[in-house]
Amino acid sequence: MHDEQPRGATANVPTSTIVIVGAGQAGGWAAQTLRNEGFTGRLVLIGDESHPPYERPPLSKAVLAGEAEPSSTQLLRPDAFEALGLEWWPDIPVNHIDRHAKRLEMTDGKTLAYDKLILCTGGRARTLTVPGADRARVHTLRTIGDALSLAQEFRPGRSVAVIGGGWIGLEVAATARQRGAEVTVIEAQGRLCERSVPPEISEHLLGLHATHGVHIRLGVHISGIARGADGRPALTLADGDTLTCDAIVAGVGLVPNDDLARDAGLDCDGGIIVDERCCTSDPDIFAAGDVAVTPNPWAGRRMRLESWHNAQEQGIAAARAALCLPVVYQPLPWFWSDQYDMNLQIYGVPLPSHRIVTRGMPGDNSFALFYLEDDVIKAALGANAARDLRFARRLIEQSKPVDVKRLADADVPMGKLSA
Ligand SMILES: Cc1cc2nc3c(=O)[nH]c(=O)nc-3n(C[C@H](O)[C@H](O)[C@H](O)COP(=O)(O)OP(=O)(O)OC[C@H]3O[C@@H](n4cnc5c(N)ncnc54)[C@H](O)[C@@H]3O)c2cc1C
Repeated sequence: MHDEQPRGATANVPTSTIVIVGAGQAGGWAAQTLRNEGFTGRLVLIGDESHPPYERPPLSKAVLAGEAEPSSTQLLRPDAFEALGLEWWPDIPVNHIDRHAKRLEMTDGKTLAYDKLILCTGGRARTLTVPGADRARVHTLRTIGDALSLAQEFRPGRSVAVIGGGWIGLEVAATARQRGAEVTVIEAQGRLCERSVPPEISEHLLGLHATHGVHIRLGVHISGIARGADGRPALTLADGDTLTCDAIVAGVGLVPNDDLARDAGLDCDGGIIVDERCCTSDPDIFAAGDVAVTPNPWAGRRMRLESWHNAQEQGIAAARAALCLPVVYQPLPWFWSDQYDMNLQIYGVPLPSHRIVTRGMPGDNSFALFYLEDDVIKAALGANAARDLRFARRLIEQSKPVDVKRLADADVPMGKLSA
């Protein structure tokens, strides 16, 4: 262990070794932040992938479309990563946390002592469990390797079955269509992205994909995967139909990588539970990103946020908290998705109790929906309306009442809305 003590704002932190487990986006931001805040002690970043921290959103978009190199997703340029002066341990899964001894154990038998630990272990793609899924080649999409392998499947004349009409499934469908493949999306629920958007947006997404020639089957379960007469995979649908295709992609959600934390006795509930300082039930262990279940005042409950914005901001917050700097992490959720020429963004958490005010109409190329409590915007969702959404974000954060009639009038600039 090194003896250096942190200086500057962190001089009172009795920490000589900080270990980050999980070298994804949150882990990468935590590492940068520790150094930016003046931590000069030993910093170890452990990841079970071979790549330094990278951003995943392009994996279902430009990288999958073959329009961007995987290296373009890297969070930091190689020289900037090098300049962090950290120990980078790639390809090493951490197997166990001994909280009593404050020591990590790796699958290869190595151990590593820590003073503070930041868990940024993200999640893994949920796999299909229907009969035959284990014998068929079912793609999932979480890593650079997944994207490169899936990209091989997309070309004119190939048919792709996408199981799951959530964000990943729909982005994959859009990219596959752009690459000329025939695409069918099979969704078990009655509408697209049912868990995250209201019905009018599901309808908009349905229309968008139909316009681009995607076949969408809603309310349909898969009961098995077999090999068709021509040797291609054949999906058996619960309604009795069979769908033969060249490739299958499952976009059926994420399983948080909280096994390490659960095994170590940390409080977990569908992810690692943290407080608004990103601290787990052990005061020396913090968590951030997709794996963290965080109190969210905007939703009125604890929740996990699976988003680029949260991975960055919570990675920063957890690093600051590990250095005993003041932190209150209560993020306004922000998520975006790109499909064809549509950029969709969501700020906040739309609730059924909210009153909806519309600017433009779903189905138009550009529109926005605002979710209000009394005259205060609590959440906003827009397609190709980035500028309006930026203003909405400010209004949400300021909790300022708005003139609702003017909000609904697309000719009134959002900047002039405060009542
Ligand atoms: C294809 C795709 C497209 C997306 N598009 C968007 C988008 O358009 N907009 C948006 O807002 N968000 C999007 N997201 C979500 C966003 O990318 C994630 O929220 C973000 O990557 C989460 O970062 P993280 O660091 O928490 O987790 P991850 O990026 O998953 O990183 C966790 C890392 O920890 C490693 N790890 C796990 N367990 C261990 C262990 N025991 N030992 C060592 N290492 C371990 C994992 O292998 C992984 O490398 C997308 C995600 C995907 C997969």
